[in-house]
Amino acid sequence: MSEYFRAIDPFPLQSSKNTRLTPFYEALRSQKLLTTFCPRCALRHWPPRVVCPECLAARLDWVDLPSRGTVHAYTIQDTGVPPGFPRPLIFAVVLVEGLRIFTRLVETEPTQVERGCTVRLCPSAVGWDPEGDERYVPTFALVQENA
Ligand SMILES: [Zn+2]
Repeated sequence: MSEYFRAIDPFPLQSSKNTRLTPFYEALRSQKLLTTFCPRCALRHWPPRVVCPECLAARLDWVDLPSRGTVHAYTIQDTGVPPGFPRPLIFAVVLVEGLRIFTRLVETEPTQVERGCTVRLCPSAVGWDPEGDERYVPTFALVQENA
């Protein structure tokens, strides 16, 4: 974790005082992945929403997603990596039940990543919310073949 990481954190206010997406972040803290589902149009969203982008319904349900997915695409950033990040960075689009999750792969050797390989949810700590709770963003790690 670094100050730089916190500075580019896209959504630092995750407590229920600041967002209706708090259940998503609380689940991440427990190593679980949630997203929203619109009962009106039977659409599952990614990323989780506060309003359905299809029908504008504001009453959405929380649904569990599996903690494993497959790498749909990836890229490795070896130069220009900001201070505080491991080098290289591995960015990936991970398929989880058909949802495309843009994320970063952590605890993973770049040479072992291939399209179609299995990854597991491995949330990364990025700081603390104003209430003092540690916060996480969704990242994934490669599942070793013999694991
Ligand atoms: Zn809808």
